[in-house]
Amino acid sequence: MNVNEIRTRYIEFFKARGHLQIPSASLVPQNDPTTLFTGSGMQPLLPYLLGETHPKGSRLVDSQKSFRAEDIEEVGDNRHTTFFEMLGNWSLGDYFKKEQIEWIFEFLTEEAGIDPNKLYVTCFIGAPEFDIPKDVEAAEVWQRLFTRSNVSAGIADIGSEEDGYARGMKPGERIFYYDGGKNWWNRGKTGPNTTPVGDPCGPDSEMFYDFGTPHDPRFGTHCHPNCDCGRFLEIGNNVFMTYRKVAEDKFEPLDKPNIDHGSGLERIAAAVNDNPDLFLIDVFKDVIDLLGHFSGKSYEGKDKRSFRIIADHMRAVVFMLADGVRSSNTARGYVLRRLIRRAAQHAQKLEVERDQRKESMLNRCASIIIEKYKAAYPELSSEETYEMITNEIWKEEKQFGHTLENGMKELDMILQGLISDKKAGEVDDFSDDKPQKMSGEQAFTLFTTYGFPFEMTLEIARECGIEVDKRAFEELMEKHQELSRAGSEQKFKGGLLDHSEQTTRLHTAHHLLLKALQSVLGPEVKQRGSNITSARLRIDFSYGAKMTPEQIAEVERIVNEKISEELPVIHSSLPKEDAEKLGAEHEFGAKYPDIVSVYSIGPKDATADAPQFDHAFSIEFCGGPHVSNTKELSGHFKIVKEEAVASGIRRIKAILE
Ligand SMILES: [Zn+2]
Ligand SMILES: [Zn+2]
Repeated sequence: MNVNEIRTRYIEFFKARGHLQIPSASLVPQNDPTTLFTGSGMQPLLPYLLGETHPKGSRLVDSQKSFRAEDIEEVGDNRHTTFFEMLGNWSLGDYFKKEQIEWIFEFLTEEAGIDPNKLYVTCFIGAPEFDIPKDVEAAEVWQRLFTRSNVSAGIADIGSEEDGYARGMKPGERIFYYDGGKNWWNRGKTGPNTTPVGDPCGPDSEMFYDFGTPHDPRFGTHCHPNCDCGRFLEIGNNVFMTYRKVAEDKFEPLDKPNIDHGSGLERIAAAVNDNPDLFLIDVFKDVIDLLGHFSGKSYEGKDKRSFRIIADHMRAVVFMLADGVRSSNTARGYVLRRLIRRAAQHAQKLEVERDQRKESMLNRCASIIIEKYKAAYPELSSEETYEMITNEIWKEEKQFGHTLENGMKELDMILQGLISDKKAGEVDDFSDDKPQKMSGEQAFTLFTTYGFPFEMTLEIARECGIEVDKRAFEELMEKHQELSRAGSEQKFKGGLLDHSEQTTRLHTAHHLLLKALQSVLGPEVKQRGSNITSARLRIDFSYGAKMTPEQIAEVERIVNEKISEELPVIHSSLPKEDAEKLGAEHEFGAKYPDIVSVYSIGPKDATADAPQFDHAFSIEFCGGPHVSNTKELSGHFKIVKEEAVASGIRRIKAILE
């Protein structure tokens, strides 16, 4: 069964059980400046899980495009991908645990055809300190289903991950209780202890596929479902959103608990194949076969990593381009650029040629991917989209070619220098026979300044008989990565993990600021980009001139006035056309689904039931999160910088003092 068939069967299965299908949200989160990419199926639905009414009802099903930039470096093993599809079904205060477990078991074993003997599940062990019981209910439903399929279904207590490595699994055991570190869901951190007061949360139940590969003792003494050795693959998670944390030591049941189920489509496909190599599923395999054909190299040989990187990266590139991302040196554009260049570099390693647009190896891969996905994702289906995608890839490949040329010139100079030193050394009495070495620093500069890949430096230097100080290079790289990791952590953590209070407050201030800018500079001012950290907010907007000190002061005054007016911040879901009619702000060039999430600020007596859009101070398309009242901004709003970033685009950085 291929990926398209599994996706269709899943959607149809849940439609037949009263669910309405919702389209995948864009990979670019709608007006949510706290995260670069949609990284899970839940992210776009969060407002509804938190209690908003979804216009399509209480049973939803979808397949959500997701991308995780933090996994770029991990791609190359048999299971990491940057892009993936998350199959999701949702009960918004409708059905609960029993139905969910029965349906997902039926889907996996009967529709997808996965052998139940190879499925293992985990449940929450309970938190007596908070009066949260062991999830016996879930475990018993699983046990009944396995037993009915003639599969032994012993239940065992594990506890923590470490306990799992110490205890292992006994014959006949199928259902395992783990603690809050593994089987508890809340936004951000996991565990009842670390759940923020006010947040919804609850136990979850994960499903694992057993590939039956031998346990690798480097991970721990014994194997267990949450072991990372590769024997077990987590294919999905059922979240039972049951409680709200009301005080540091108190949880109260929600009136209407929710179900949030998410499974990785690619992972289910790997389980259906009964092969732990995710890259052997059909969507990757065709790309890999093509690369093998043109390079004459075998996937099973030493170049496996390159095959995987190209296949993964090109799939992410195709979907990103279709969702409006373009190569650049900042934020999303930079991630896209990195993916294309990394893929190009590995294509070069496989020695497939790069001659012209239509014959570019990366574009051949892109064509296969577009063909595979265009039925399920109509945004890929038009001829114009095909032209745009292949054009953008080719443009970036060509530019990367120039980078390589410049890097080559520099490398040549370094090598020539070393070679002549070596020759001079031969007539020097003090010389020994050791060949000259290229310093780690030189290789590092080539990489950081010219973008010249280290693997190529190594290879070319070797051809000239020059050794490279690999150790020193790696040390420099490590330091460099630590620095950039620290810098980008905030950005890449993903929306759900990054909703610290201060970021949320600055996000609301961001909405006030945009409106204040329009009041002072004119309604034609539009947002062109934004970024929020816990320290400051940044907005890029269209405006042709430098702001005067008076204009800046007036914008600050308006924002501070709105903070002191204590205006309610209200979330609503509306059909896109209605939101547009209200004049809700949206980011230039962004794409939105049919039903959009909107945040409005003010007037003073507005409520969630009566949002009073006519008298609101600000209305924006936005995924949140926000404070519930501007008084929570509790600080003085101050613009710390106003500057040009491009012709006709200004940038403001501001803080709450
Ligand atoms: Zn293991
Ligand atoms: Zn917003």
